[in-house]
Amino acid sequence: VIVSVSSSTNNEFCSKDQKSCSEEHNKYSRESNNWSLKIKEQINTAVNEYVPCKVENCSCHKSVIDEDLAPFKGGITKELFDRARAKATKYQIIDGKLYREEECHFPARCAGVEHYLVAIAAKMPNLELALNTRDWPQINKAWGHPKAPVLSFSKTKDYYDIMYPAWSFWEGGPAISLYPTGIGRWDKHRISISKSAEKWPWEKKENKGFFRGSRTSDERDALVLLSRAEPDLVDAQYTKNQAWKSDMDTLYAPPASEVSFEEHCKYKYLFNYRGVAASFRFKHLFLCKSLVFHVGDQWLEFFYPSLKPWVHYVPISPRASQEDIKQLINFFKENDELANEIANRGFLHIWDHLTDKDVKCYWRRLLKKYAKLVTYDVVKDNDLKLIYE
Ligand code: UDP
Repeated sequence: VIVSVSSSTNNEFCSKDQKSCSEEHNKYSRESNNWSLKIKEQINTAVNEYVPCKVENCSCHKSVIDEDLAPFKGGITKELFDRARAKATKYQIIDGKLYREEECHFPARCAGVEHYLVAIAAKMPNLELALNTRDWPQINKAWGHPKAPVLSFSKTKDYYDIMYPAWSFWEGGPAISLYPTGIGRWDKHRISISKSAEKWPWEKKENKGFFRGSRTSDERDALVLLSRAEPDLVDAQYTKNQAWKSDMDTLYAPPASEVSFEEHCKYKYLFNYRGVAASFRFKHLFLCKSLVFHVGDQWLEFFYPSLKPWVHYVPISPRASQEDIKQLINFFKENDELANEIANRGFLHIWDHLTDKDVKCYWRRLLKKYAKLVTYDVVKDNDLKLIYE
């Protein structure tokens, strides 16, 4: 659903006194007008077709569970589980208690997940899970991997992995200087970022595109380069991450200092990009009531499909050039009311449908449905240790 933005328009092509190119100028204006009309039409159609989901029982995200579990509707056998287990950390819920194998490669990530699992364990049937805490998913259909029920936080349509709400909703998110123990609790960010949004209402925000983050994917380069060429239009700079060695890793410029989510609210147009997999940044951006530009539609987290392009955010192709991005920002500068409406719908959607309660609810629904597909008796594994909160 990503429009390919044409970069062939340029209204500043001719000055008024250059008669010789006025015909060319008219042609470009016409193309530009057509392009603007097309974008307005896309927005109109998307908004008219959109059916908001009900604010109850995380129903907004239900279809994702159905889709992710569809490949396993023939049953999750012991053999399938063993295949998954080799790629992930083993958990069991037995008689309402949570157990995990001793080894966890990322203890803070396991803790972030366990917060939710402990909370729902009492009402769960006995079950066992193969839970992947790495950044990337494991079982790729396109590469011919045989299917296996590995739970991962993010994937593309090419994977069999079953998405679960990332650890970072509670803890174990990426650590940066501003958040030295990880970007931290979503329930708290919801409050603090939305408070900051009140300090920066739409009319007070700067008419600028904004991005701060490290170069975990080169898809971010076009925006960073546009920012260097047109600093009044965009402020997008690369920060250091743990892998940073020299200015080469920040596209030949010194690393910028990091900027908190709350400070993002100062800007009207906030950009989201994939990183290694989906970036945790996405959900936070909506809380500013700024307009979110979401680049690429391949990498997902469980709540992404509930957000609709043009209704809640502006979709952009990862192949968009600097000129394409500029054109789209300028469109929204000229159509400020439309931008504000999309920003408000995006905010409300995340505010209403991505609460901490929704996260818990998603875990509960996912595991109940998963447990129903299991065809073998889950027997307590005495090598696992009991997990308390
Ligand atoms: N981050 C931030 N401020 C910054 C840089 C990063 O809040 O100045 C957050 C960012 O939103 C993301 C996390 O830190 O949630 C890691 O960002 P990075 O760009 O390094 O990697 P990503 O996870 O997006 O690939």
